[in-house]
Amino acid sequence: MEDKCEFCIGVMKQGRILARFRFRNEIIYIENVPAWVCNRCGEQYFDAPIYKRLELIAQHREMIQRSISFPLAEFDMALA
Ligand SMILES: [Zn+2]
Repeated sequence: MEDKCEFCIGVMKQGRILARFRFRNEIIYIENVPAWVCNRCGEQYFDAPIYKRLELIAQHREMIQRSISFPLAEFDMALA
């Protein structure tokens, strides 16, 4: 089963991704999320039940047991 990307001529492939999910101005990351990903531009699409579950997970974020940290750069930072 294949779908065309809405944004380019790529094809949406099903896979499991590390999803970046924005919920009430907070970003959470969720591992192993079944998603459709464009093989060209990387656009991600979740089926409706998957999206619902991401929302549910975000609403229960106090039950999340692991966290990751990542560097936060400033665009104008000094590089010398
Ligand atoms: Zn695309």
